[in-house]
Amino acid sequence: SSLMASEKEAALAAAPSDSPTIFDKIINKEIPATVVYEDDKVLAFRDIAPQAPTHILIIPKSKDGLTGLSKAEERHCEILGCLLYTAKLVAKQEGLDDGFRIVINDGPKGCQSVYHIHVHLLGGRQMNWPPG
Ligand code: C5P
Repeated sequence: SSLMASEKEAALAAAPSDSPTIFDKIINKEIPATVVYEDDKVLAFRDIAPQAPTHILIIPKSKDGLTGLSKAEERHCEILGCLLYTAKLVAKQEGLDDGFRIVINDGPKGCQSVYHIHVHLLGGRQMNWPPG
């Protein structure tokens, strides 16, 4: 997907599926990532194409069918809470005391390109509204 012209093209080309993704390789340390937080349930690492001075992805180590938020079931409530709580911890760790932005892209129209749920933590600059 790094050969694609834009994140939107990557998103539109990514077919939603429950197959392993590049994030499994990051979890399994088969490809390198700059990990900023890790525990038994979640992993947080720097986005390879940062859209802000701080741009971190927070993911569950076990996908458990959670390709995206739209696939959430009641059993996922605990891990969904953990992802957001980890975002708060990492925001603090990154010194984002004046604010930050949390994003979850879902599906082609949401510009999702990796089908393993992830929370984007963005900060270190003034965010704008509406988003693109
Ligand atoms: O929400 P979306 O699915 O578009 O986000 C996927 C994110 O994963 C992108 O921001 C992309 O830069 C990032 N990525 C990464 N490392 C990879 C592949 C993708 O940080 N090896």
